[in-house]
Amino acid sequence: MSAQALWSAAGSIEPAGLYIHVPFCLRKCAYCDFYSVTDLSLIGDYLGALRLEMTRVPALGLAFDSLYIGGGTPSLLSPADVAAVLAAARDAFSWQAGVEITLEANPATLTTERLAGYRQAGVNRLHIGVQSFQTPHLEWLGRLHSTAAARQALQLAMAAGFDNIGLDLIYGIPGQSSESWGADLEEATALGAAHISCYMLSFEPGTPLDRRRREGKIKPASAEAVSRLYEFTVAFLAANGYAQYEISNFARSEKGNDQRWRSRHNQKYWSGAPYIGLGPAAHSFVGRQRYWNHRSLRRYLGDLAVGRQPVAGRETLSRLQRQIEAIYIGLRTTAGIDVVRYNQDFAPSFEKQFDALLKRLVQAGLAAFTPQRCALTRRGMLLLDSIADQFVSCL
Ligand code: SF4
Repeated sequence: MSAQALWSAAGSIEPAGLYIHVPFCLRKCAYCDFYSVTDLSLIGDYLGALRLEMTRVPALGLAFDSLYIGGGTPSLLSPADVAAVLAAARDAFSWQAGVEITLEANPATLTTERLAGYRQAGVNRLHIGVQSFQTPHLEWLGRLHSTAAARQALQLAMAAGFDNIGLDLIYGIPGQSSESWGADLEEATALGAAHISCYMLSFEPGTPLDRRRREGKIKPASAEAVSRLYEFTVAFLAANGYAQYEISNFARSEKGNDQRWRSRHNQKYWSGAPYIGLGPAAHSFVGRQRYWNHRSLRRYLGDLAVGRQPVAGRETLSRLQRQIEAIYIGLRTTAGIDVVRYNQDFAPSFEKQFDALLKRLVQAGLAAFTPQRCALTRRGMLLLDSIADQFVSCL
């Protein structure tokens, strides 16, 4: 099937998202398994290849309303480079009005001039990798920035005119108390972040952190301790005016408009909307097809230099894969699974397929179910993986 036919088969008219992966970091953090290299001398070659990829990737008639520059450390790019990337993207793709343009930033790289330059280039949303406001935790995670730099990053960004600022925080660090985690949340809210992503520390295979865990040098926090921190997070942020909309994501809610500060781009990953990813290791999803680029900068550069797309693999999702995906990503969000859409795409109906399980979950106070939506409760979210597995075992 041609790419265009695949797109038509999807029949979607949802606006798409464009993701650009910037695969450079000053140093690798101990817990991170995102693809990046520390040889910054390759930035020029990467930018040239990215422009080539933009002109060659099939845009499939998509209209985009979000552009997310992630990484890696995109704030290693100069404002002039970011402006050039945005100009090339503007030329290569079709855009709706009022595009959300996010840049991920590392506090260790931010200066007043740099931030002003990004804004001038057109970036209207900043996502800062703070991770913690506690020096011992930052050191333990292998981060380059200090507590003072984390605070200053937010203050400088606001002074540069950014109002839509998100930040990442990590919880579940061994030895982290509710008090110390509470202090991180307190600081993030007091500094005025519009969006807070709270990620549970995970020990990803192949990372130095996971190696130390397997060698017995690190004892991960217990599941009970992590659950307590999660419950604390949801309660604290709700009390401070932040609405949870995904298991790890919270946005400041305004009277009558709790969408304003949500990440438009990230919501595409949870709603089944199309997205195209550019750069090494970036993933794309259009219609029923998913494809992904090589997780190697050398291979990415090499392929584009000889006129090849840097695609490492692709798959067309089967019916079963699409059902599983609808369940997993739906249950992650507070809006839940879109039952109407599920019933348009699959038979037997959601109600019939999961009848006994739904009754059990609702009775146990773990899920809420209407003819439109099926969402986990706060308690249910704590059991997300096991509940999602129970849904899948009914298929
Ligand atoms: S956490 Fe961020 S800064 Fe650290 S290695 Fe990963 S991508 Fe780079």
